[in-house]
Amino acid sequence: MSTPFLNIKVLGSGTSVGVPTIGCHCAVCSSNDPRDKRLRPSIYVQYGEHGVLIDSTPDFRQQALRANIERIDAILFTHSHADHIMGLDDVRPFNFRQGGEIPIYGAAEHIDNIRRCFHYIFSNHKTESSKPRLVTHVFDTAPIELFGLAFVPVRLCHGRGTVHGFRFGSAAYLTDHSDIPEESMTLLTGLDVLFLDALRHRPHPTHSTVERSLQSVEKLAPKRAFFTHICHDLGHANTEQLLPPHVRLAYDGLEIALPESVQ
Ligand SMILES: [Zn+2]
Ligand SMILES: [Zn+2]
Ligand SMILES: [Zn+2]
Repeated sequence: MSTPFLNIKVLGSGTSVGVPTIGCHCAVCSSNDPRDKRLRPSIYVQYGEHGVLIDSTPDFRQQALRANIERIDAILFTHSHADHIMGLDDVRPFNFRQGGEIPIYGAAEHIDNIRRCFHYIFSNHKTESSKPRLVTHVFDTAPIELFGLAFVPVRLCHGRGTVHGFRFGSAAYLTDHSDIPEESMTLLTGLDVLFLDALRHRPHPTHSTVERSLQSVEKLAPKRAFFTHICHDLGHANTEQLLPPHVRLAYDGLEIALPESVQ
């Protein structure tokens, strides 16, 4: 039996406020189905001896404990909205365990925002306590080579903003987006697994909907697709009944192994 080369763990599948949403008593927020409990959106990509985190959400500490994450070799940021970056301080235990600095990667605008938001991390002032030890890297369109695997930035429209998804091997992760530009579609052919934003059924200015993401799946024709960044409008079981068999809702704790070579 061959061991999987690449394992994707869904750390969170929820929208920016999470599900259940504070103070809400709707059917989904009150549901007993564990798949309706959604922390903020992130995945962990594990291959060989290495692990790469995509986004550090406000729930990162809880997600890392729950998924038994023992190392982080790099962090890729899709963008700098609060639901994707606010757990960054909680990578300190990985600095302690691993020693050295953790490289983080983002587009220029988003690395600027992260540096401003976490000013103390990147300040040269001596601190009496610990702070994350990070090195920032800015990416544009070129693939990011990490430990033998190329992560290709995939430009996406998030309302008026620009964010990135990533293609790695035969998988791609496209969270927050309202549109996939034509030149990005060409980076997404021949996929085994595609994760993509599907907030809800009703239109939203910065997010894709179930209907729109189904159209993207039809055009890109991955073998399997998983919707993520899901809000409390969508109950897991009810929504899946409306979807074709190769399209499912992601859920916290979902793991996808890709056995074949990913290069
Ligand atoms: Zn988001
Ligand atoms: Zn609710
Ligand atoms: Zn966002």
